[in-house]
Amino acid sequence: MRVGVVGGGVIGLSTAWYLKKMGADPVVVESWTLGSRCSFGNAGWVCPSISSPLPAPGLTLKSLSWMMRRDSPLYIRPSALLKLTPWLLRFRSFCNHADQKRGIAAIAALNRFTMERYDELAASGVEFECHESGVLMVFRDSDKAAAAEKEVKLVTASSATSCTDLTESEVYEREPMLRPGFRFGLFVGADRHVRPDSLSAGLGASLRASGVEIHEDTMATGFRSEGGRVKAIVTPKDDVPVDAVVLAAGAHTGALTRMLGWPIPLTAGKGYSVTIDQPRNQLRQPLYLGGAKIGLSPFTGALRFSGTMELSGINRRMDTARIRSLRRIVSREVDIPEAKEGGRAWVGMRPIVPDSLPVMGKLPSRENVYVNTGHQMLGITLGPSSGWALAGLILEGRPGVGLDAFSAGRF
Ligand SMILES: Cc1cc2nc3c(=O)[nH]c(=O)nc-3n(C[C@H](O)[C@H](O)[C@H](O)COP(=O)(O)OP(=O)(O)OC[C@H]3O[C@@H](n4cnc5c(N)ncnc54)[C@H](O)[C@@H]3O)c2cc1C
Repeated sequence: MRVGVVGGGVIGLSTAWYLKKMGADPVVVESWTLGSRCSFGNAGWVCPSISSPLPAPGLTLKSLSWMMRRDSPLYIRPSALLKLTPWLLRFRSFCNHADQKRGIAAIAALNRFTMERYDELAASGVEFECHESGVLMVFRDSDKAAAAEKEVKLVTASSATSCTDLTESEVYEREPMLRPGFRFGLFVGADRHVRPDSLSAGLGASLRASGVEIHEDTMATGFRSEGGRVKAIVTPKDDVPVDAVVLAAGAHTGALTRMLGWPIPLTAGKGYSVTIDQPRNQLRQPLYLGGAKIGLSPFTGALRFSGTMELSGINRRMDTARIRSLRRIVSREVDIPEAKEGGRAWVGMRPIVPDSLPVMGKLPSRENVYVNTGHQMLGITLGPSSGWALAGLILEGRPGVGLDAFSAGRF
């Protein structure tokens, strides 16, 4: 079975990898180069213990208006507001305890397979940089620490992992690079982190080594259908004939599903990062600055800090004011001499739908089209388990985990 996979980010590559492993003949169509978009400069955390949906109880219209402040961790660009309003109203409708609980349980069910899938990739010879040092979350204020602890405990209760409360001295024992005043900490020991570009490179190399056809610099611009089935992916080069298709084009997937008669309300949650090569100081483990919602990741020979969730439409425009604010906060909170001016800035578009759960399964408008997208802040965490589950659904009719909560038919 020749399955066209549109999009060569971590989701498309993981899907292609599991399709190949389960006996299919995937062909990857990527408009740029493998792993070069949102899957490139992110924090790389594989973090089932802190995986939750974005809509949370208590979001009011007033707090939505705070989000138009440029230094807010969740920022809505005023010029994009009109276009985003229907999406935001749907997002707000999920800001309640019942939906949050349902979302946590659905993500946890998928995450139950996350580490197993990562171990499987490594054992099968996929080469990527991976660290098993846990994640340290730190807070200056007791109320922010208590709110985060409540959320982490909701998640860890569903995912059979655990977190440990830390005293101030334990926080500094774990991370001496922190500036003074972080009195509260949580440590989640089971979480890992990977260098995300190494993961895409490793998956790509493994696919190539097993003979998978990969078309880079090739944009899917349409589909040729016959009798409710897609027969070929149309590109500016040759058409790519297929028996089935997986749409995994990140934030651009919505445009493709619309062409096939099934719009999905997908938008981009932009995030920024700065990567410093050969930093003078290095962190002992990934660090989450709770108040500012900024994550820092130590890699081999590099240190990256990242954060912000900006809703400003689907475009890769970089807001330099937000990068400056990221740099300012990091250099205020952590002893990283290069944070203020050094390193490379990057922007990525996280694919997000209003309930912020992944969208995985068959596209109701076509017999042989599937989607795998909407992984918001969790695409690295959920990539391999999502690829595995969707490949199982396509090839064996059994995804290995319930996918009802993720169905494309919910829109
Ligand atoms: C700052 C930041 C930090 C993050 N940190 C983490 C983290 O620590 N842990 C975690 O789990 N997740 C994290 N994420 C989220 C994660 O990066 C995303 O969820 C994930 O990369 C999405 O992968 P994707 O394959 O869906 O999208 P992408 O990586 O964007 O891949 C989609 C691909 O499709 C291609 N494409 C688009 N349109 C077409 C077309 N028409 N034809 C052909 N190809 C097309 C694109 O070129 C692209 O390569 C972070 C994101 C950001 C921005």
